[in-house]
Amino acid sequence: MTSYTGGCSCGGVRFAIDDYLYVLACHCNACKRRTGSVFGVSVVVEKTASQHFRG
Ligand SMILES: [Zn+2]
Repeated sequence: MTSYTGGCSCGGVRFAIDDYLYVLACHCNACKRRTGSVFGVSVVVEKTASQHFRG
């Protein structure tokens, strides 16, 4: 059973996961640069938990 779906803002990548390990907000310079914001948010999942729809 799929619990969560998401993807990138352009719609090129879509995914579905059953569960996640944890969510983190990082304020390092790499995450600021990657997001263009003051922090980046990442969701960590088991490798076997992700199911790509496309992308
Ligand atoms: Zn970071």
